[in-house]
Amino acid sequence: MPSTAMTAKLNEQITHEFHASQHYLAMACATDAMGLKVVPRWFREQAEEEREHALKILDYLLEVGARVKLAALPPPPSEYKSVLAAAEAALKSEKKVTKQIHDLVALADKEKDYATRSFLNGFVDEQVEELKHTGDLLQLAKMAGDNLLQLESHLRHAMSKPAGG
Ligand code: MG
Repeated sequence: MPSTAMTAKLNEQITHEFHASQHYLAMACATDAMGLKVVPRWFREQAEEEREHALKILDYLLEVGARVKLAALPPPPSEYKSVLAAAEAALKSEKKVTKQIHDLVALADKEKDYATRSFLNGFVDEQVEELKHTGDLLQLAKMAGDNLLQLESHLRHAMSKPAGG
């Protein structure tokens, strides 16, 4: 079973992942209010993924017989003045989550908790993808500038490609 410290950190990460999910959902709502269709769908898919991450950690804790402790979520920022601003916030958030995951890995190494270390591998890989994914959105938003129709069209194309492409 993970140590008390590791269990506490994994529980914290569940909260971080749910918060990231809420954050993306707020971005979906804000960009929907801008009259967009594809960008909100992109954010909403991200929100679903983050929720899955939270549940994956929750299931791991249950599997190893550790206690799950859910916590209150801070309200996500809900106002964005542009898609670019939302994309910048998304990338910043993914960098933060990446650091959190790496800190968990460092703790697992320190504690010689090889089971948790192995469990976290998927999250380390996932963050590489998430950073690439959000970086791509930011770049698209930068290139499109005020041309939101072009952004929507490019993003629709990118989303139609198979995952990992
Ligand atoms: Mg995540």
